[in-house]
Amino acid sequence: METTTTIKPTFDVSEIRKSFPILEREVNNQLMVYLDNAATSQKPQAVIDALNYYYSNYNANIHRVHTLAEEATAAYEATRTTVKDFINAKSTDEIIFTRGTTEGVNLVAYTWGRKNITEGDEIIISGMEHHSNIVPWQILCNEKKAVLKIIPVSDEGELLMDKYKKLLSSKAKLVSIVHVSNALGTVNPVKEIIDEAHKAGALVFVDGAQSTVHLDIDVQEMDCDFFAFSGHKVYGPTGVGVLYGKKKILEEMPVFMGGGEMIKEVTFEKTTFSDLPYKYEAGTPNIADTIALKVALDFVTENKKDIIRNHENDLLKYATEQLSVIEGLQIIGTAKNKVSLISFVIKNAHPQDIGVLLDNQGIAVRTGHHCTQPLMKRFGVPGTVRASFAMYNTKEEVDRLVSAVKKAIKMLT
Ligand SMILES: *Cc1c(COP(=O)(O)O)cnc(C)c1O
Repeated sequence: METTTTIKPTFDVSEIRKSFPILEREVNNQLMVYLDNAATSQKPQAVIDALNYYYSNYNANIHRVHTLAEEATAAYEATRTTVKDFINAKSTDEIIFTRGTTEGVNLVAYTWGRKNITEGDEIIISGMEHHSNIVPWQILCNEKKAVLKIIPVSDEGELLMDKYKKLLSSKAKLVSIVHVSNALGTVNPVKEIIDEAHKAGALVFVDGAQSTVHLDIDVQEMDCDFFAFSGHKVYGPTGVGVLYGKKKILEEMPVFMGGGEMIKEVTFEKTTFSDLPYKYEAGTPNIADTIALKVALDFVTENKKDIIRNHENDLLKYATEQLSVIEGLQIIGTAKNKVSLISFVIKNAHPQDIGVLLDNQGIAVRTGHHCTQPLMKRFGVPGTVRASFAMYNTKEEVDRLVSAVKKAIKMLT
């Protein structure tokens, strides 16, 4: 028998860290350890430079004829092409710029939803959704007398797929599902979810807010009907996100907001609307941040997503091993397939207090319900402490987290 040794491609984290100026910051007299990446990631210098360069050199409104406007338009549209490639969409017509994931969900709920959902229809979401993927559907269901159905979650934090299949009937018109849970780290089997939904005649919206930074996204292979993500969680700026939709569906949907840029012709009697994707981009968009989003996505691509993922998975494994042996600490979310995110609670200590004590030691984590209150209720906890790792985090930082947690426990219990 042949023995093969697989050599993992090396990943120079110290080199990567040099690209993120904020990582040199001190918090409470110590070098900051930033482990709140699932809330928002830090930005490489190249992204910060792109914003500065745009405002210093070619700030102009897009889709105008003068030179600056042409440069701004070209850069804005270049991001659309980069996004298309990043998620493997078929066409740039399918890429709509939004403010973020939340706006993507709302756009579909207001347009597709208002046109297609009627009394008695069912919309299926899961027990681990972010409030952004609950509330817009709840508003729509209330308005249309439709029914919101929930896929239950196991004790490990995985979706109960047999229960999901039972929920799917001819009444189901839409399944809207989180790709990766921001509170548990669970990677959901979206391909299977989508295939089953399509068999039942329902469309599928995938909330990619957490998955886009960690996993390879291929919307054609996934065959989702909609996919949304936020730039700021993929090392890009805040205030810009993406809604992907299949072209045919986007073409048939009514418009969202009315205004400039989204029209062909306006008279007081009647307005005709622009073609895709401009039909859904009313008003002056977030030009600077959209331009800088391209730089963020290029940065990820240049550093190779699979190599980054190996590094993040090593951190997840190491941190899980180190944290799970701490007495009184319980990890919430132990799914087989997880991204580099660990939620935990500590016996007899409130997550908030742990968070403050970690901050005192220069460590930034998220504490609370993570905009997933129904999920917290499911696990019977008021909230958790969440450490989420990005490409620039290190094993030494995990060590600091672990010793800071131990210290916090001593002080609180
Ligand atoms: C962050 C997040 C959202 C909302 O994203 P915004 O950028 O705040 O619009 C939605 N779903 C999940 C899973 C998230 O993590």
